[in-house]
Amino acid sequence: MSDPFTTQLIHHPYTPPAGFDAVAPGVHKASTVLFPNVHALRTQEWKDKSGYTYGLHGTPTTFTLEERIATLEGGRFCVLAPSGLSAVVLVDMAFLRQGDELLIPDNAYGPGKAFAEGELKAWGISHRFFDAMDPADLASKLSPATRLVWLEAPGSITLEFPDVPALTAVVQEANRQRGASQRPIITAFDNTWGAGIAFNAFELGVDVSMQALTKYPSGGADVLMGSVVTRDAHLHQAVLMTHMRLGLGVGANDAELVLRGLNSMAVRYRAQDASTRDLAAWMQRQPGVVKVLHPALTDSPGHEHWLRDARGAACLFSVVFDEAFAQDRIDGFCDALQLFRLGWSWAGPVSLCAPYNVSSIRTAPWPYKGGLVRFAVGLEAADDLRADLAQALSVLTA
Ligand SMILES: *Cc1c(COP(=O)(O)O)cnc(C)c1O
Repeated sequence: MSDPFTTQLIHHPYTPPAGFDAVAPGVHKASTVLFPNVHALRTQEWKDKSGYTYGLHGTPTTFTLEERIATLEGGRFCVLAPSGLSAVVLVDMAFLRQGDELLIPDNAYGPGKAFAEGELKAWGISHRFFDAMDPADLASKLSPATRLVWLEAPGSITLEFPDVPALTAVVQEANRQRGASQRPIITAFDNTWGAGIAFNAFELGVDVSMQALTKYPSGGADVLMGSVVTRDAHLHQAVLMTHMRLGLGVGANDAELVLRGLNSMAVRYRAQDASTRDLAAWMQRQPGVVKVLHPALTDSPGHEHWLRDARGAACLFSVVFDEAFAQDRIDGFCDALQLFRLGWSWAGPVSLCAPYNVSSIRTAPWPYKGGLVRFAVGLEAADDLRADLAQALSVLTA
């Protein structure tokens, strides 16, 4: 006995007419991909986007997103990962082997450092931190074991803008001295802030550009994803093989959200950039504020590098308050804000803020004693955000 339509409903003869065209690319969902015959099942290549083999190896939706991100970054190849952090980890795992050493900027995104301090160390892969604002410090920390150098512009939280061409030149010179018999040092760049809009990371001399698509490309604060973009086919193959063996995949609905976000990304980037510059400059003039960190401000560390290399400045600024304000007062300032909500991440529609203890997240000396708050400006009207900052500052200084 079987239900009359059991098989028919699964194996249905109808196929819709071809030629459907719409603004949104289709959302293709698959673990299983069907093959027309055994020959195709045996021979379909999965590594070169010539066809489809299994959901983890790509669908029309993920291929479309990969191609658009590769274009955005000025690269040739893109691999998607389920979060920005997993994209960082993917790069580490693709290029590092036991006995290798990894160099990380002291002011880099924290969870990437934690992976080095946790898993990589346990697997016999060492790491050292360097001062990204000092190319000579990077040069002095390169050793025959160095295999991968991470770069990030600007630094996480403190927003110093490094001289990226000078840093990549240090690595290129070391590679020239190594010669062909030794594996070259690879430079990987966390391009979440520039997002492919403020500059082309490859033109600054990097080999691999990673991005948290969670931030600008999504723009909605509602999806997690990461990307790894390369220009060199060999580097791409290394990333792709590790990606496949780790079983990293992204959901079709998440890819759809990022594809949708990409349509408005450049406009959002410029709008948030404009509001952020406005608010950062205003904040500099407020009582109780010792320092505003934002690469477009002339006294922000690395401003001259930003001016030379970038055509945009994202949505982040950090404020160092007078040390007269104890941490509970600064926490109270953050609590008093109404439009700036408390939360991690950035580049979404809602403005965010979070207090940080800089000395606890880096090894290099930090010149300020007062508390730091990082602001991520959303898409609200700048006048309303300024009024919100003003009312919270009046609470702080009351
Ligand atoms: C958010 C962020 C990441 C990690 O992205 P997730 O998707 O949150 O894992 C990595 N680097 C930078 C600079 C980021 O801001």
